Order: sequence, then structure tokens, then C-alpha cells
Amino acid sequence: MNAPNQSGWRPEMGSTDAAPSGTASGDKALMLEEPLIFELGRPGTCGVDIEAPDADVMPSLARFLRAEAPALPGLSEPEAVRHYTRLSRQNYAIDLGPFPLGSCTMKHNPRLNEKVARMAGFADVHPLAPQQSVQGALGVIAELADWLTTLTGMAGVAMSPKAGAHGELCGVLCIKAALDARGEARKVLLVPESAHGTNPATAAFAGFAIENIPATAEGRVDLAALEARLGPDVAGVMITNPNTCGLFERDMKRIADAVHAAGGYVYCDGANFNAIVGKVRPGDLGIDAMHINLHKTFSTPHGGGGPGSGPVVLSAALAPYAPLPFVQRQGDGTMRLVEEEDGAHEATASFGRMAAFHGQMGMFTRALAYILSHGADGLARVAEDAVLNANYVLRSLENDLDAPFAASGPCMHEALFSDAGLAEGFTTLDVAKGLIDEGFHPMTVYFPLVVHGAMLVEPTETESKAGLDRFIGSLRSVARRARQGDPALKGAPHFAPRRRLDETQAARKPVLAWQGDRTAD
Ligand SMILES: *Cc1c(COP(=O)(O)O)cnc(C)c1O
Repeated sequence: MNAPNQSGWRPEMGSTDAAPSGTASGDKALMLEEPLIFELGRPGTCGVDIEAPDADVMPSLARFLRAEAPALPGLSEPEAVRHYTRLSRQNYAIDLGPFPLGSCTMKHNPRLNEKVARMAGFADVHPLAPQQSVQGALGVIAELADWLTTLTGMAGVAMSPKAGAHGELCGVLCIKAALDARGEARKVLLVPESAHGTNPATAAFAGFAIENIPATAEGRVDLAALEARLGPDVAGVMITNPNTCGLFERDMKRIADAVHAAGGYVYCDGANFNAIVGKVRPGDLGIDAMHINLHKTFSTPHGGGGPGSGPVVLSAALAPYAPLPFVQRQGDGTMRLVEEEDGAHEATASFGRMAAFHGQMGMFTRALAYILSHGADGLARVAEDAVLNANYVLRSLENDLDAPFAASGPCMHEALFSDAGLAEGFTTLDVAKGLIDEGFHPMTVYFPLVVHGAMLVEPTETESKAGLDRFIGSLRSVARRARQGDPALKGAPHFAPRRRLDETQAARKPVLAWQGDRTAD
């Protein structure tokens, strides 16, 4: 294939005419440019007919009348609709192509989930509705809770945390409550250096001191270093399994036994549960608390249909400290949401409350729909296919990109590469930006930190072999250009609606609101 030129036109696209350098409108066929809505509007234009207020009818409201028109952009209805539709076409979405973001498990969100979540009996319930009127919804929470404890082999589950990081906080607060109950003030949480950033952040937020545990050369937790550090000041460990190098921590049971023997607890970051669901039960590995990202393992990724939800499964040692409220199945088959007012705080050892209500109902319905439509066998197949797809990516690209742990054996659900071997001056960022020109969302970059210039690719099980081959072909092409030092790659993306942005300024000084007309305030 010929290299594309600056304008995006390729000779093989059919015409032998010279390509134009631009168009009068700024649009390029179906690639649409779009200004800000404030730059589009005209004062005095309105998309809807609003009747003039009748001061005679509402004298008491007259003082609320505006003296001046609000500083809103004036657009007709079709202009407003087109504006947002044009913007939406500049976006990338899971329904357009794969999101190979390692650790994020961005899988296809089955339409069945959406249909179920939109059923009026679920979509229209109110969290303050009388319990006898929402027995079905409470039943969904209880049934999902049963699935989660069964799949993980754990004693209990806290359903209310709203995302993975929130679940981590819930689990670590359970550990703290259990230590308090024992009258012990253990202050240190051990966190491997490959941990997701939310792990040390959670530990610090809950008031623990963090100490790092090194990784072995093959990318796993250094068991000897961990054992050497255990002692009466150690509250426990926070370990991601499968870990963020895409590897299964084979010593997990030995780690857990050692931590328990030293009086500590084992928190497992279960964000990568997709790789082992239906295959391994964390409870059998000695884990005390683990959050499950419903929005990863059980579909509905961020950007693909919903918010997050991070239930935390708990061992018998930690379950009594679970937060309120929780759903309890009564002897007569009815469901009860157990709250503080019921005296639950005294009856249980609950550490308190994580959220105003019982959790993300919309995610519960979607996750349960996903689980029921797969069944236990289907969920095991999910894990198998996710691991197969990641290994296909790893082996297909190990000669084009440095794969630091390829010798450690098969990976789990994600393939890790480093920037070793790229031409002088070429970085992981150049590879990521080059992928955008190829029409793909980039992989996770510069994480985990144990590898220089990390590129973490998680295809998930929902990509076909043909789709994977297309992605692999593109990443291989970009990787080769980075190894050969193709100067055009330094300017990528050339074909996206915007070029390279200043990522530091975008994070440090985000401009999130229209500021063009501040003097009018
Ligand atoms: C996604 C993720 C988290 C955080 O989950 P959120 O739902 O985004 O808060 C924590 N750990 C790992 C390994 C993850 O991949």
C-alpha cells in the first residue's frame, strides 16, 4: 500500500487526478468540521416558540423576569440537531470499532442488556419507593449478589460501591473495621509496584502507609520480598490478579497464606476478573476482599452505555463489616433493604455507608442480563476467548514490538509491549497517535510503570479474528514505521479532526466552558 499523503488522499483511492489540498467548507466529504455552538448562533434566533410572558397572569412572578436575554447561542432546531450530530461523528465509540485499552476491558455491550435496563419496571423505579412496591428490583439485586458470590466463592458482597476505585475504598474500610474490632492499629498496606494507581490512592485515602513490593524479572509479585516485609504493623496487601502485566499471579494462594499467618488481610483488585471468570474462584485463593467492575467483566464499558458499578465480594472474616444498606432475602421469600433505621448498625458490625442508596440499579440489571444470557458455562468461555484473543495479539506482534514478558509464558487477557527497539526519538505516544490515523482507538499507554513506554493491548473476547487481524495489521504497520523512524509518524494523527493536543495543558488547565463572551457577564 502506498503511504498516505498529507491530505489523507491515497493514490489507490481510484482517481488519477491530483488530490486537492482542501475544500471551501473545511469539510472533507464525510469528515466534518464543526465550530463551537457559540460560534454558530445568531442573537434572536430560537429553535422553539416561547410565548411572551403575561405579567397580568403572574404578577407574583414578574420580579423573576429577565431584564436581558440570556447569553445563549441562537440556533434553529435543525441547526442544533446538526451541530451535535456532526460533533458525534468526530467521536470514537465501542459501536464504531474496538477500544483496545488494557486494564479497561472495553467489550461490546449486548443490546439485550439495554432492552432489559429500559423496561419500565426497572428504569422507572425510585430509590425511595416503598420496599413492597419494588420487590422485583430488590430481587434483581439479590440474584446478582448470589451470582457474584457463587462465581467468586466468597461469603458476602457489598453491592453499593459505584465503581472499581469506590469498591477498593469499601474493601479497605472493611479491613480497617476488622482490625479495629481486633483492637489492632496496623498501619501499612503493601502494594506491588505494578499496581493500578487507584490501589495506593485508596490505601492513602483510608489512612494507611503504603510500601511497595517489587516485581520479579518475569513480571509477578516477588514472594520472598513480600514475606520478608510481613509483620505486626502490616494490615494487608493489595494485589491485582491477573496483574497489570497481563499475567496470572501463580503464587496468590501462598501470598494469601503468608499474609494471613502474619495477621493481615488480602485485598485483590478484581478489575481484570474478565480473564478468569468461571475458571478461578478468588475465594479459593484466600482473598478477603475484591471489587468487581460490573462495567468491565459484565459488559457496559465506560463510554458504551453506562456508569460504573463496583460490588465488593468479601470473605467470612470481612463480610460482617460490609456497608449499609444491603438487600436481605426474608424467610417468606420477600426482599428487605436493611438500613440504619432497622437497627442494622448495632445488629451488624457494618463500618457505615458508601453511597446514598443501594447502588447502580441500571448496571445491576445490565450485568444480570449479561450473566443470565451467558450462563456459567458461557462466562467461562468469555474468559477463555478473551485470553485466546490477547495471546493472538501478543504472538502476532512479538517480532514487531518488544514484548518484555513474552518468555514468561502465555499472557492472560491483555498483551504488554514496551518501547524498546523504536528508532531514536520515537516514543510510545507516536505509536498511539499513528493508530488514530489507522482508525483505531489507541491502547493503554505508559501503564503499567514496570515497563518502559508500556503499551497494554486488551482486545476482549468480543472481537472477531478478522477484526483482530485488521487491528494487528495496523499496529504492525505503525510499529514498523516507529522502528524505522518515519518522520511522518511524529506528526500523527494527520487524518483526525484535530492534530496532536497539548496533553499536559489539557490535564492541568482544562478549558471546559465557553469563555469568548466573558465581558457580557
Ligand atoms: C479500571 C481499574 C480500576 C478502577 O476502576 P474504576 O471503575 O475505573 O474506578 C482499578 N484497578 C484496575 C486494575 C483497573 O483496571
